[in-house]
Amino acid sequence: MKLTIGHLYPDLLNLYGDRGNIQCMMKRLQWRGIEAETIEFEIQDEVDFSELDIVLLGGGSDREQMLVCERLKEIRDDFKAYVEDGGVVLAVCGGYQLLGTHYSTDQGVIEGLSIVDIYTEQGKDYRLIDNIVLESELSDMPVVGFENHGGRTYIKDQKPFGKVIYGSGNDGQSGYEGIIYKNVIGTYLHGPLLPKNPQICDHLLSKALERKYKKSIELAPLDDTEEREANTYIYQRFKGKVSR
Ligand code: GLN
Repeated sequence: MKLTIGHLYPDLLNLYGDRGNIQCMMKRLQWRGIEAETIEFEIQDEVDFSELDIVLLGGGSDREQMLVCERLKEIRDDFKAYVEDGGVVLAVCGGYQLLGTHYSTDQGVIEGLSIVDIYTEQGKDYRLIDNIVLESELSDMPVVGFENHGGRTYIKDQKPFGKVIYGSGNDGQSGYEGIIYKNVIGTYLHGPLLPKNPQICDHLLSKALERKYKKSIELAPLDDTEEREANTYIYQRFKGKVSR
C-alpha cells in the first residue's frame, strides 16, 4: 500500500512548522511498512487531486492568506470535488480559515474556498494565543496543542473537532475548536498537532487508506504510551483553569 500527501503552498502557508505533521504521517506509515510520498506544490504549480490521498494546508499570516486566496479560487472546484469524494484534508489555522466562505480583516475580505460553511472575522482587540487542550471524538486521549490566531471562526451548528477544556478555540466563546467535515479536519492547533496527538494522525491515515483501497483498514498499533501519559498530565494540569 502507498499514500501520497500533497502539501499546498509551503512557500506561503508555512507558520510554526505545520509541515512537521507531514513527517509524522510519513513516519507512522513507514513504521507499518506502508509506502509514503509527499509532493510539495508551490503557488504556480498545477494540482492534480486525483493523485493525492491527503492534503495539508498550513497556517499563514493575513498577507500570505490574501496571496493564496487568489490561487485557491482557480483550484476550488477540483478541491471541493476531492473533499466531497472523501479526500482527506488537514487544514491548520490560516489554512482552516481558508476552507470557509471568507475571512474579514481590517485590510479587506479574504475569500475562502467555501468547502465548508464556516466564516472568520478578525478579532477587534487581542489575538488568541495560548496552550490549548481538547476532548475530541477522534482520540481517546486528550488532544493538546498551541493556538495563535487573530481570527474568530464561526462554524454554526456543524461538528467541531473538539470541545475546549482549556484555551480559546474557534471564537473564544463557543467552547468548541475546529471542524470535522467528511474526512476534513480544520483546526487552530498549530505546529506538532499530529506528533503530539498520534490518534488524530492515525485517523487521517486510516481514512485515506480506506478511500484509496476501498476496504476497512486496521492500522497496526504503535507504542504511544509517552504521548498518552504526557497528554493526560497536561489535561489534568489545565482542566478548570481559565485561559484569559
Ligand atoms: N492570519 C490568521 C489569523 O491571525 C491565521 C494565522 C495563523 O495561521 N497563525 O487569524
